[in-house]
Order: sequence, then C-alpha cells, then structure tokens
Amino acid sequence: MAERFENLIAGNWEFPEANPPIESLNPADTTDVVGLVPESSPEDVDRAVKSAREAFSSWRLVPPPKRAEIIFRAAELLLKNKQSLGELVTREMGKVLKEGLGDVQEAIDMAYYMAGEGRRMAGETVPSELPNKDCKSIRVPIGVFALITPWNFPIAIPAWKILPALVAGNTVVFKPSSYTPVCATRFVEILMEAGIPAGVLNLVHGRGETTGKYLAEHSLVDGVSFTGSTKVGEAIIRSCAGIGKEVSCEMGGKNPIIIMDDADLELALEGSLWAAFGTTGQRCTAASRLIVHRRVYDTFLKEFTARAEAMRIGDGLKEDTDMGPLINEAQLERALGYVKIGTEEGATLITGGRRLTGGSFDRGYFMEPTIFTDVTPSMRIAREEIFGPVVALFRADSFEEAIELANHTDYGLSSAIYTRDVNKTALAERELNSGLVYINAPTIGAEIQLPFGGIKKSGSGHKEAGGMGGAIDMFTRIKVIYRDFSGRLQKAQIEE
Ligand code: NAD
Repeated sequence: MAERFENLIAGNWEFPEANPPIESLNPADTTDVVGLVPESSPEDVDRAVKSAREAFSSWRLVPPPKRAEIIFRAAELLLKNKQSLGELVTREMGKVLKEGLGDVQEAIDMAYYMAGEGRRMAGETVPSELPNKDCKSIRVPIGVFALITPWNFPIAIPAWKILPALVAGNTVVFKPSSYTPVCATRFVEILMEAGIPAGVLNLVHGRGETTGKYLAEHSLVDGVSFTGSTKVGEAIIRSCAGIGKEVSCEMGGKNPIIIMDDADLELALEGSLWAAFGTTGQRCTAASRLIVHRRVYDTFLKEFTARAEAMRIGDGLKEDTDMGPLINEAQLERALGYVKIGTEEGATLITGGRRLTGGSFDRGYFMEPTIFTDVTPSMRIAREEIFGPVVALFRADSFEEAIELANHTDYGLSSAIYTRDVNKTALAERELNSGLVYINAPTIGAEIQLPFGGIKKSGSGHKEAGGMGGAIDMFTRIKVIYRDFSGRLQKAQIEE
C-alpha cells in the first residue's frame, strides 16, 4: 500500500476522500508509487482559504524579524535533510541526483536569504516640502496568496514563492503540481516543524484544471503567484484581470545560445550540452535553440552530436546516469510529437528522436537526446516550447544575424552567448531581449540573490527571488505615509 500524503488546512493534516486519490509515480519506474495524495474538492479549498484569511490578521502583525527566525530554522532543517530530500526529488521528478540535491540547495539558499529579508524590507524616507511633516513609504503584506507551482523544480520553486510570501507577512494556500506532491508535502512539513503557526501556510493537493483553477479564481484570495506553462499562466492572468488581484506568472521559454566563431569551443560545447539536455530539457531556461557561427558550425555540430550520443540515460538515482526520464507519458508524447512535426516541416534529424525501450526503460519515460539541423525560424520546433531533450541548430553568418535569430521568438526568459570579444559581450548584453542574459555560460544557472523572470510570453508581473524588483516587491505593497506634526493645516503645492 502506497504511503498517503495529506492536505494541511488550519494546522490539521487531513486526507479528504470525496474524490479518488492521485497517484504520484516515479517517472524512471512507474511500478514505484511515490505516494497518494487527495484530489481536493472546492469545499477543501474554501476551508484552506478561510483559514489563511483568519491567520492573516495575526501573522501580519508578527514583526518581520520574528517571522524570519522561523524561516531561518527552516533553512537549517532543509540543510539537515538535504540528502533525503534530494533523493526524493529524483525519485518523484526524475532529474539526476546531483540536480535533485541542487533543487534542495536552491531552497536552502532562498531560506537563508529570505530570513535576512526579515531585517531589511526597506521603504524610503524622504524630506517634505513643508515644515514639521515627514514622508515615508513602508511595505505591507498583501493578504492571502495562492501559490501554484510546476513539477520541474519541486522543492526550489515552492521555496521561491512560499518563503518570501511568509516573511513579508502574507498567508498562503499552496497548490503544488499533482506530479510532485510528495516533495511539496515534505517541504511543508519542514516549514511547520520550523514553527510556522497553524493556518498561515495551507496545502491543498489536486489537479490544475480543478483545484488550481478554483483556488486562483477564489474571491477571498488577494494574490496569485504562478509558475508553469504560458497557456495556463495567460488563462490565470485573464481570469484575475479587472478584479484587483495581484498576479505574477513565470512561464515558458525558448532560450537561445549563440556560439560565435571566436568562442572557447570546448566551453561552449560543455555549456550547450548541459543547457539542452540537463534536467532532460525540462527547465524553463533550457536551451532549445543553438545559433552557431558558420565558421565553427561543422566542428561544433560534429562534436555536439558525439557528446549527445554518448550520454548515459537511465534512473537518476544511479551514479552513472547523465540524463533521467521525462516526467510523464504526456510529456514524452509531446516531445516525440515535436520530432514528428520537425521532420515533417523539413528539418533534418541528426540524432535521437526515439523513445528508449527494452529492459528497465519499459518502466519509465525515457527518450534519446535529439538534435535537429536545417531549422528555419518559422518552423514550429523553432518557435514552440517543447520542454524535452530536443534542440534545434541554426547557422548564422554574422553576430548581427545571430542576435536577430536569438530574438526571433515570442518568449524572453534566458539567452546566452559564447565569445571572447569583449565588445560583442557588451553588445549582446544590450541587444538580447530576455530577462536573463549569460555571457560565456549557458542559459541555466540563475542564483537566488538576483531577480528571476522573463519578458514577453515568458513572464508577467513581478519577478521572483532576491534583489531589486524581486520577490519582496511581489509579496508586499508600498504604502505611503505623510505625518504632519505642525498642528495646523498645511497645503502641499499651495503653501508658499
Ligand atoms: P502547467 O502550466 O501545466 O502547470 C503548472 C501548475 O499549474 C500545476 O500546479 C498545475 O496543476 C496548475 N494548473 C494547471 N492548469 C491550471 C489552471 N487552469 N488553473 C490554475 N492552475 C492550473 O505546467 P507544468 O507542466 O507543471 O510545468 C512546465 C511548464 O512550466 C513549462 O512551460 C515551463 O517552461 C514552465 N516553467 C517556468 C518557469 C519559470 O520560472 N519561468 C520555471 C519552471 C517551469
């Protein structure tokens, strides 16, 4: 009998049985049921939101440094449990263990960082134009947040949302992906062990189109922070528009790497392989377009193909695995579907493109690393997010053409360039049209102390993570205070 993982509502762990439970399977071995979680009903969501609403009245008054002490304790607990959580990430999501541990490390980094925010969260104090009057701005929490997360970073992304939301004084109803609910539950358990009061953090399991939609649209929810596909993100933005809800969405990507003729080719190869096939291509910042200068194109393609073909595919928990499975049957079918589309569109399939079968492969969702050439910018494989180990190569005649190709996309999350020309790095920094730009590094590898997020179809609303314009801006509202201690009516702009 598989282990059951519960909802958390008003401090009580519970397993509602109104609907059949959801099974979370190990994508490397679907005979391994990682856990069972409830499919929550609207009534469960109502109770979770109500509990968050009630808890808000006291949590918002807890001094931020005190809230931060709890977050700091959570950081210590996450660190203590890093190995077991990392293994759980790999077992439930499929990424190789090193990456599973990295997923947890990102949450640890975020917890320490956000604990520090409890003693910052600065506003401004500025002089008044009038005597005996002061002017300042302060940050106040927004209220109840619905936090909706995807499966590809099952500990890190929940941490990116829950920790800043809580330190800023909001209360939370968290709806994780139904593909990684066990990681989400373990993370919430740790936060509760660290001392989050009952009702401040609530967890409801369920599918997106039912539980997620109902939660995002709930009239007692003040803000929604969503990470996931552009299709769902845009639907959430539309449904919240005009009803005064704060909404921030981090969505898909179609990220390019430019490799110039003067690049350190070894570095570019290593980075491109990691960005294209790390996490089996299932990162919002994965590189799915490689734009290579014609002078190094043939050499790059030959070596890149050899390295992709040499990758060892299998269960991420095994030490010698380079690339794990895709998350589920639908995602595998989607990636294979794009192989068919690319071929039909006239692109050349250089390597890969097939599901791996036989032996233990039959129990999971494994696919070969896949490379297309002769891709034109108008092809669907050049434009649409595949979210799998499929990469398209383009040949560019010049730096200008490379930049144009890179920007030829509806998305704008991350882009990268490899070149040794310092002037080109500066131009690329200016011209690449995305939220993140990497120079001589791949499109993946953001650090938590700077904001994270995209433009165009990749992101909308505030960015996540640390720094100016990051998550603290997302989870607080600026309130402006004028205090007049002159004892008389003073008229701004009118008084001489
Ligand atoms: P998804 O959009 O299918 O689901 C994301 C979350 O939304 C899940 O919890 C899901 O249950 C929920 N959901 C689904 N339909 C919903 C609805 N109608 N209303 C409310 N909630 C709903 O995405 P996914 O397959 O879990 O994740 C993959 C996608 O996430 C990719 O497009 C990827 O690029 C994106 N992603 C983006 C970032 C980023 O920061 N930009 C990071 C990671 C993943």
